[in-house]
Amino acid sequence: MKIIVCVKQVPASDEVQFDHVQKKVVREGVELVINPLDLHGIEAALKIKDASGAEVVAVSLGPPPAEKALRRAIAMGCDSGVLVCDREFAGSDTLSTSKALAAVVSKLGGADLILCGDHTTDGDTGQVPAELAEMLNVPQATYGAEVEAEGGSVKVKRVLTGLIETVETPMPALVTVTKAIGKPRRPSLVGIKRARTAEVKTMTAADLGLTKADVGWDGSPTKTLSAYPPPSRPQSEKVEVSPEKSAARIVEILGQAGVA
Ligand SMILES: Cc1cc2nc3c(=O)[nH]c(=O)nc-3n(C[C@H](O)[C@H](O)[C@H](O)COP(=O)(O)OP(=O)(O)OC[C@H]3O[C@@H](n4cnc5c(N)ncnc54)[C@H](O)[C@@H]3O)c2cc1C
Repeated sequence: MKIIVCVKQVPASDEVQFDHVQKKVVREGVELVINPLDLHGIEAALKIKDASGAEVVAVSLGPPPAEKALRRAIAMGCDSGVLVCDREFAGSDTLSTSKALAAVVSKLGGADLILCGDHTTDGDTGQVPAELAEMLNVPQATYGAEVEAEGGSVKVKRVLTGLIETVETPMPALVTVTKAIGKPRRPSLVGIKRARTAEVKTMTAADLGLTKADVGWDGSPTKTLSAYPPPSRPQSEKVEVSPEKSAARIVEILGQAGVA
């Protein structure tokens, strides 16, 4: 069985900053980490590897520093990494990103199972997995809390609000996971040593048969029209007096707001 786990490198969550002129997330000069839910994607893949001996390939589309994320994935137990990296990808929206990821899955000869995080902490659209599943023409199961793959099908326990559901679908399939998968394992000493020398293959747009028109600015129908921080909420007031007085004050506040 072959599993491809999609891993995105994101700014450490307290470092996400926005460039309001260029209208994009600032990724230069900040600490970059593996998107937290992608660590759970890796953990889900490695649990299946532990049970079945599956091959696990970590794939990332990003600038050269994303290689570090792939080496960490290898240190955790993934077998290899592929970095999709090319200036042609600059300006890629989610559709264009998914196109590149679909092309790399095909280039690698396909996979029985593709694992993704439910969403990222920077772009946070949650669109890529669904687009990728559609482009690869495979079924998708979301909100995975447990993922079991054997005998040509994958069983996914989905934890929803007020409902736990188990679904099964034939593979190839794509599954998105949440943190309910369980704590991602720490890299072992052997893993860290292996990750230092393991080959991380780099693929360009041309390697994937993609042209300038397919990806990057030209291949992205989304345009960011404006971007600004949300207006700050008005200062709240704590009323700590008797119930009668606080009720009177609340009526007064509602009156001033034109509600009562
Ligand atoms: C007009 C426009 C221009 C943009 N230009 C740039 C740019 O120049 N540079 C740039 O870095 N970003 C750019 N972006 C942002 C980029 O499109 C998103 O970062 C990317 O598509 C992923 O979206 P997301 O973070 O919402 O992922 P989500 O859909 O929330 O991610 C869900 C899961 O999909 C997988 N996944 C997502 N992205 C990747 C990835 N890159 N590699 C591997 N797996 C992945 C992961 O498993 C992840 O957990 C641009 C966006 C727009 C709209």
